[in-house]
Amino acid sequence: MKIKRALLVVIILIVFGFSYWHMNTNFDVLSRYPYENENSRELIRRYLNDDEIRYIIEYDIAPAYFIDYITYKDFNIYHVSEYDKLKAVAWYLSDEEVVSFAEKLIAIDRFDEGLELVLNYDPQEILFWFENGDLYNPDAKIIYDPSDYDLVIGEDFTISTYAPKNLVESEFNGSEITLRRGALEAFAQMMEAMAQDTDITSFQITRSYVSYSKQEELYKDKEDQCDFDMPGHSEHQLGSAFDFYVANATLEDTAIYKWLRLHSEEYGFYFSYEDRNDHLRYRGDEQ
Ligand SMILES: [Zn+2]
Repeated sequence: MKIKRALLVVIILIVFGFSYWHMNTNFDVLSRYPYENENSRELIRRYLNDDEIRYIIEYDIAPAYFIDYITYKDFNIYHVSEYDKLKAVAWYLSDEEVVSFAEKLIAIDRFDEGLELVLNYDPQEILFWFENGDLYNPDAKIIYDPSDYDLVIGEDFTISTYAPKNLVESEFNGSEITLRRGALEAFAQMMEAMAQDTDITSFQITRSYVSYSKQEELYKDKEDQCDFDMPGHSEHQLGSAFDFYVANATLEDTAIYKWLRLHSEEYGFYFSYEDRNDHLRYRGDEQ
């Protein structure tokens, strides 16, 4: 009787042990995931480990939130909500760029700051700023919205390497002019009005939009050396300012200059640098 009982116990133990082993080797952690279908299942299996799969189950994260990103280098399932926030404001980025940019920001612990800047700056510009700061005035602060026509730029505020998104190239009296669309339209209206009152054939543009890298050259060559000529600090980099001259005349004596002094503000243009009579900046309609 004792032997029979002992045998029974042994058999039960063996059956139980085998079942336990079988369950462990064949247990699919994904079977508890309610959203699985053939496509997502394969991707999840390939790119996530068991811990990560338990995480998406525990927090009920559906494939829609991460499946578009999962194949890209540096993808991290624990950062899916950051990808989502980034995509919501920077919809123009591809899924691959979202993953790459978010991971770079998270790695340097500046995700929130990057998220705020990406409304106006592109990822490359933001990473340059985080990496280098302002090379010309280390104390300068970045301007969060460089597309604001009326912003204050100067020694203490920078737009870093920002390039406006809506620059338009045009021509006037044989010289090239590149401004943001709104500024260029206002410029054309102003020229039309000026042509009614003056002979504008001698009016020439010498400088309009200047990129950060071009401004670096000018600054190094000592062509421009004022504080507002530092790369990132020039109104020309905003794409809303231009310099002009009047051929064969002293600027201040010309009818063109006098007309601009009287009327340019009606078109949104201001002599924004006190000591420069040849520099006009568009600041928008609402002044
Ligand atoms: Zn100028």
